[in-house]
Amino acid sequence: MSAHLIIAAPVADNEKNMDRRQKQKEAQHRRGQRLLAIQSQNTAIQLAGALDHFGITKAVLGWVMNEFAKSVLPLPDEAACGAGCSWCCHLMVETSIPELLVIHEAFSAQVPPEMMIALTTRLEKLAHAGELCDEDTWSLNQLPCPFIDEANGCLIYAVRPFACRAHHSLEMESCRRGYDEKAPVLIPSFPLYRRNTELYSRVFINVMEEKGFASFSVGFIKGISMLVEKPELADAWLQKEDVFGPARVRKRGAALKISPSFEGRD
Ligand code: SF4
Repeated sequence: MSAHLIIAAPVADNEKNMDRRQKQKEAQHRRGQRLLAIQSQNTAIQLAGALDHFGITKAVLGWVMNEFAKSVLPLPDEAACGAGCSWCCHLMVETSIPELLVIHEAFSAQVPPEMMIALTTRLEKLAHAGELCDEDTWSLNQLPCPFIDEANGCLIYAVRPFACRAHHSLEMESCRRGYDEKAPVLIPSFPLYRRNTELYSRVFINVMEEKGFASFSVGFIKGISMLVEKPELADAWLQKEDVFGPARVRKRGAALKISPSFEGRD
């Protein structure tokens, strides 16, 4: 009898502990979601207020994007990401249209003509690779973002999209495997950090839509290609014309899915 009791007690304790840990994890997740919702709401109020006060121009959108970027938390120390690592720069990047406009304006004003020609050539090559708003096209063809420089750095690091700022990994080997195998790979990451960084893009999309703009998530490189080819699209969009439809991100679905998913350590 006593032997049974000795064996049974730790099992019951283990179950209780697992149950408690699960509940703690769920409560933590709910708190995280609430904080994100509050942060998102406050950011939307700030953006709408700034646009109402200063007007909706590329300069104002640029200033707001810069302020948002300053609010992004530093990458956690545990992240394996660093200079010269660009596995994730071979995946499709989604942005809001204000980000597109600001980034296009920034690099058009700064890059020398020869670099602009090189960029245009890279964009043209990518255009032949397939549908640039389809994430599988990127992964299956191992397409590099045209903004990767020779040292595997980012040519537009200071103004890169929020999606690029959000993307991180706690284990570089997983990123390499995803690239090499073109297969679904679970990337260990901090989901809360990711969502908290991506929310600026989402806020741009929502607030601009509320203000009557044709606002949705676009493929970053497809959108940039359109602007490089026809810079006047920026002003047309600011006049509320629906000009970025071809860059709209396709609904993900039937096709073979090979992009990474993330496992979390909130
Ligand atoms: S914009 Fe920069 S960070 Fe983003 S995918 Fe391209 S090279 Fe990488």
